[in-house]
Formats: sequence, C-alpha cells, structure tokens
Amino acid sequence: MAAPTTTADETTTTPVEDDNPLQPVLDFFDSSLFTALLQLTLFFFVALWLALVFWTFKDARRRIADPVLVAVAVATALIFPFLGVLVYVILRPPEYLDDVRERELEIRAMEKRLGANMRCPYCRHDVEPSFLSCPVCTTKLKQACRRCKSPLDPAWQLCPYCETGVRQGEPDVAVTRAPIL
Ligand SMILES: [Zn+2]
Ligand SMILES: [Zn+2]
Repeated sequence: MAAPTTTADETTTTPVEDDNPLQPVLDFFDSSLFTALLQLTLFFFVALWLALVFWTFKDARRRIADPVLVAVAVATALIFPFLGVLVYVILRPPEYLDDVRERELEIRAMEKRLGANMRCPYCRHDVEPSFLSCPVCTTKLKQACRRCKSPLDPAWQLCPYCETGVRQGEPDVAVTRAPIL
C-alpha cells in the first residue's frame, strides 16, 4: 500500500509546481526589477522621512521658544517616522513666536494709549491710578483733594468725588511770586 501512495504524491506535486497561476507573480518578486523598485521606494520613504524631520525642526524653532521642547519634537519625528510628525502637527503651538511677540507689543501699545499700565516717570515702576506717590522712589505723582483726599488728575478743575474746586493757587503762587522776589 506504501508504493502507490508515493507515486500518487509525485504525480500530484510535480504538476502543481509547473502550473502555479501565481508563478509569474512569484517570478516578478524574485526579479532584479522588483528589488530595484523596492530599493527606490525605500529610498523615497527615507528621503521623505528625513525631509519631514528637517521640516519639524524648522517649524518647531519658529513656534517653540524652549530649545529642549524643539529637540523633543525633532527626536519624536526622527524616532517615529511619519507618525511622529503627525503627532507634532496636532500638538504644536498654533502661532508663530513672531506673531505672539507682535501681538504682545500691540497689546502693550494699546494699554499705554488707554493708560492701563501707568508707570512712575522717575523709576519706571508700575503705579496704580489711585496712587498719590510712587511707593518705590516716593515721587509725588498726584495731588490729593483738599477735602476727601481722593487722587486728582492734574487736568481736573474740580474733585469729581466731592465737587470741591481744585486749588490751582499753590503752584501758580510760587510761579507768580518768583519774579516779585
Ligand atoms: Zn518711582
Ligand atoms: Zn474731593
């Protein structure tokens, strides 16, 4: 019974190898053309990967001030090809540092126009509109109302809190007296 089975195996296995419908495909995968195409594709993927790493470095430098975080972004793009860049694009700061700086300057200029951040004219320390004197250099900033002691703007003719007239006399008297003496 053993002899017929071996002959049957031989007859069944040999035609399968010859008439394999996938044989041209297998031949193609074995061919040098396929190897060349594979190498070319691999080369393009590596080139694209390195270009994306370089792009991540350039983009991160314009958006992130901390050099350690820039290095982390570049390392992620380098270690995880394509996926790392995708993660960076999702997590990166939405604005360029230059735009942030420009906006901060604009806000500061606007605050200055609105008088939101007043500064002592002598020591440049921040002072509040209600301060009569600079707490740092003790410079007199504003006159207090005679009656309610509210801080008065130099342009005001009367105290808006208690309606007491602002006495313009003191500095004027000194000026008018000076020529007489
Ligand atoms: Zn001051
Ligand atoms: Zn007053």
